[in-house]
Amino acid sequence: MQSPQIFSKLVIPATIAAGPGPGNTDTRVLEAFAGAGIADHMHGDVLRGMIECKHMLRQIWGTENTHTFGVAGTGWSGLDVMFSAVMPGDKVVVFVNGTFSGIDGLTVRMKAATAEELAANPLDPQPASVTIINVPHGQSVTGEIVDAALAEHKPKWAAMAHWETGSGRINDIQGFSDACEKHGAMGLVDAVSSLGVEDFRIDDYPGVAGWASCPQKGICCLPLTYAPVSLTDRYVDTLKTTGTRSFVHHPLMEARHWGIIDGQDVEKGTYHRTHSAYAVAAFHEALRIALQQTVAQRAKDYTHHEAALRKAVAAMGCEVTSNMTSLVVLNLPGALAGREMELVQNCRARNFGIWPTLSEPVQVRIGILNLLSEATIRDIVVRFGQAIEELGGSVDHAAVNAALERHYRVAVAAE
Ligand SMILES: *Cc1c(COP(=O)(O)O)cnc(C)c1O
Repeated sequence: MQSPQIFSKLVIPATIAAGPGPGNTDTRVLEAFAGAGIADHMHGDVLRGMIECKHMLRQIWGTENTHTFGVAGTGWSGLDVMFSAVMPGDKVVVFVNGTFSGIDGLTVRMKAATAEELAANPLDPQPASVTIINVPHGQSVTGEIVDAALAEHKPKWAAMAHWETGSGRINDIQGFSDACEKHGAMGLVDAVSSLGVEDFRIDDYPGVAGWASCPQKGICCLPLTYAPVSLTDRYVDTLKTTGTRSFVHHPLMEARHWGIIDGQDVEKGTYHRTHSAYAVAAFHEALRIALQQTVAQRAKDYTHHEAALRKAVAAMGCEVTSNMTSLVVLNLPGALAGREMELVQNCRARNFGIWPTLSEPVQVRIGILNLLSEATIRDIVVRFGQAIEELGGSVDHAAVNAALERHYRVAVAAE
């Protein structure tokens, strides 16, 4: 008999998660995860924790939508629940300005395709009922673009990423919501990168019928815990008339375990699937932290520290093309153009976890999720400067330091 091949115990090192996500998890969240007992998914405290999460999520997201809850998994899990109301033949317009909205577009095309359209190109269907509006990488989707497309196509649904993490661009959510209202479309928004980072309230955007986010970016929980979703009554009423072909990702069935039944909050959830006491405990703690810190304060901190990082990399000769406050997307100085991937790989080899863009053009992405202190920003700047020098680039350290000093000292003086 062959002896079994047993690998040595897997050790995953600590890294600086300076990318678009996952972000750096608070130790309180890790402790909550590791400290949960093996309570099953119908244990009273687990069910109570889920109900409390639901209520905290509504506060963080500024909404009275009853259908606000977590979907087990990551961002795509929440998005799959949200997009599940899109049925074959539905007319949809999707705005694409980067990697993630591109995948949202693919999801929509898979769901809106008729059986024939799906069979014709199963991995990349091109249904006649879906219009993809491509906005170039590095640019934002504007209200005018949305208004023009919805006026022309008059779709049932319109979809857009709020913050497109692939290119680091913030899209015009007010313009999107207004255009959806004006043209009678139901908006579906990928808010995976914006929730917990920008201070916004769902209920201020009545044109948007569905929102989906993720656990491990602005909410600072662990991947594979809970992806928040929030759905309006209009979305729910529409779904009730069409149904959807999923049990596990059925928005109404999934909501039952969170104590949302027949559109009402009930005292106790009922079984939908096995939930994890570890995931519930971690998510609960992450939401408590967000409410204690407040999203408004976090949003200010992101703005403050992103501006510092932006100034420092500009002083190194990089060109920043993003406008998100949790992520800087940049081109290297001219002399190093084309060597972005090499630089990123060098950094990653040292557990300094920055990222390239995942679709063309190749750019460098440096994120600051839950890295909101002057010390961590300075550490990132030093490491990034070293990586540039390692490739033979030159860094004007005096200029970089002066930019950081000016930013942090002037900001402090102004307070
Ligand atoms: C990260 C991200 C996703 C994908 O989320 P996963 O957690 O990887 O499933 C989708 N959309 C946007 C805008 C994102 O930033």
